[in-house]
Amino acid sequence: MKNITMSSKKINDCFQHDKDRLTHFEAIEILKTNLPPTGTNETIDLHDAARRVLAKTISAPRPIPAHRNAAVDGYAYRDEDYDPTTPTQLQVTARIKAGDPLIDQMPKGQAARIFTGSVMPTPLTSVAMQEDVTLETKANDSVWVTLPQGLKPKANCRAAGEDMQQGATLVEAGTRLTPQHVAALASAGIKNLSVTKKLNVACLSTGNELIKDEKDFTLGKVFDSNGPMLKILARQTNCTVTDLGILPDEPKIIQSTLHKAAQTHDVIITSAGASKGEEDHMVTSLNKLGTQHMWQLAIKPGRPMSFGQIENCLFIGLPGNPVAAFICFLLYASPMLRRLSGEAWPEPPRYRVPANFSIANKKPNRREFLRGKLMAKDQTTWVDKYPKDGSGLIHSLTASDCLIELDENLTKIDHGTLVNILPFSYWGL
Ligand code: AMP
Ligand code: MG
Repeated sequence: MKNITMSSKKINDCFQHDKDRLTHFEAIEILKTNLPPTGTNETIDLHDAARRVLAKTISAPRPIPAHRNAAVDGYAYRDEDYDPTTPTQLQVTARIKAGDPLIDQMPKGQAARIFTGSVMPTPLTSVAMQEDVTLETKANDSVWVTLPQGLKPKANCRAAGEDMQQGATLVEAGTRLTPQHVAALASAGIKNLSVTKKLNVACLSTGNELIKDEKDFTLGKVFDSNGPMLKILARQTNCTVTDLGILPDEPKIIQSTLHKAAQTHDVIITSAGASKGEEDHMVTSLNKLGTQHMWQLAIKPGRPMSFGQIENCLFIGLPGNPVAAFICFLLYASPMLRRLSGEAWPEPPRYRVPANFSIANKKPNRREFLRGKLMAKDQTTWVDKYPKDGSGLIHSLTASDCLIELDENLTKIDHGTLVNILPFSYWGL
């Protein structure tokens, strides 16, 4: 039985590497290799299990279904009493409803009225659908059923264990539970299960220009859009999120807030202030409190991102521009949170869709993530690209439903070329 090994300590300095610049997949490889599931497990009621990560593999304690049963409403009979080349008439001597106990004997040559899900009498092997039979009442009110020709052996009968054999894996450890998994577990009579504890994540925005209230608006001020967005994005991964609001570009305040948050959170996610400018204080604060690594990523939008560790708390420093913060969250922070919660490293699916646009010059050696909108044309799905560049254009996010991924080798896109798209729906957006 596979269980998730939770580690109470993160790998020390798990973001270290020796490259000046990382490609997208080099970055993914480091995160994927170095981040173990973290934290502890807890037992919860099945009704609360949706979106939690299963900590211990659960196997079927008995076959599902537990008994051979009818797949339709109809008449159950023995295959040996039935001739598929001619209509067969049998007397109906039993009536079996769903939930009735097993009948283990039936005289030869007799049929049973039966309903979907009812336990098949031991000697009976097939069921003729009620729509396909004719009934006749004879002397002494005896009821006779005429079965149609051409039914196959074991017709309309569900075998015990045809869904799951006893001992088969119902749900593997590391699975994020959907309503479908909950149904599978409920079908096996499971009431309580061990799941990983939700991660505690703190989100904060940084920047002297940021405000959240209309009354503070003056020239030069910018409403904090990353904070509310990142909080919702983190909640999509089913973490418990604390909103630490907006921090000014003040090293002392940043340091004391980070230090305090690190005592009670598994992960701190920040946006902005994470490059090398003199007003970017996140990096120096991290250096004082723990370990810090600035990653130069060969992607657009995004580029510098900071990762670090303050005691046992991980730090993810996203770019400040809202589009870059959004995309870097989807590509890096979201799989990190899911992996730390006990899932295997998740990789978004990519679909190949013809481009309803062209690009004459794409810079080689970097991976670009454009904002795309899927559309129907000529009975096919195409993707349009948002017409403007710019990692501050929030409208490019509301007008899109996917990322278009242009890899490092591409230097141009002709109209109609197949391009990779990553649908936002994968992230539940
Ligand atoms: P920085 O990384 O601090 O240089 O910020 C880059 C750009 O992103 C600047 O134009 C900031 O005003 C903007 N920005 C930073 N944080 C936020 C935020 N929380 N909401 C909206 N825009 C932001
Ligand atoms: Mg700033």
